[in-house]
Amino acid sequence: MQYFHDPSWHPIGDGRCSDNNCPCPETPIPRGEGYLYVGPEVVELRLQHPSHESAVGELAARMRSMQVGMGFPVATSFGRVGPVLVCEEGARLRGLNLRIAGADAKHWWRTGEVPLRATPLAPAAWLRPMAARGTARGPSSAADDRHHVEAKKGGGVLLLLAAIGFLLVMALVVVAIGEQIGWWSF
Ligand SMILES: [Zn+2]
Repeated sequence: MQYFHDPSWHPIGDGRCSDNNCPCPETPIPRGEGYLYVGPEVVELRLQHPSHESAVGELAARMRSMQVGMGFPVATSFGRVGPVLVCEEGARLRGLNLRIAGADAKHWWRTGEVPLRATPLAPAAWLRPMAARGTARGPSSAADDRHHVEAKKGGGVLLLLAAIGFLLVMALVVVAIGEQIGWWSF
C-alpha cells in the first residue's frame, strides 16, 4: 500500500471529529482512536500531487479557475488535500468500512501516514449475508473462482442436454403429425 504524509498530523494530544458532514459537536477522539476518511477526490489529487504543497497549490488553482468560470468568489471550504478524522457516528453516516477506517486511523495516529486509496465503504445491507458466506468459506478466492467456472460448465452441459432433448421431442412430434396428416403415405 502506498501512503502520503499528512502535515496536519500531530504526534501529541487527542483529536476531534473534523468531519463537516457529521452532526456531532466535534466529539473528542482520544489518541489512537476514531476513523480515518480518505475521499476518492483526495486520492485523485494526491496521485498527481504527492507533496502537500503541490496539492494545496493545485487546489488553489482549481478554485481560482472556478471563480473565473462563475464570475464570483466561491466558498473556500471546497476541496481537501488530506484525510478527515471522524467519530463513529460520522463514519457510520458516511457508510465507511469501520474495520479498515479504524485501522487506517491507528496507523495515522502512529505515523501521520495516510493510505493513497479511498476509504472502502461497508458492504450494503443486502450484500452482507453474501460477504459473510464468502469469508466463512475462507480466503481461497482462486478455488472459489474455479468452483464458479465449474458450476458454469455444468450449467452449459445441462443446457446442451436440454436443447438436444427438446429437438428430439420436436422431431417426434413432427413425425407423429406427419403420420397423422399422411406426409409419408406413399
Ligand atoms: Zn462526528
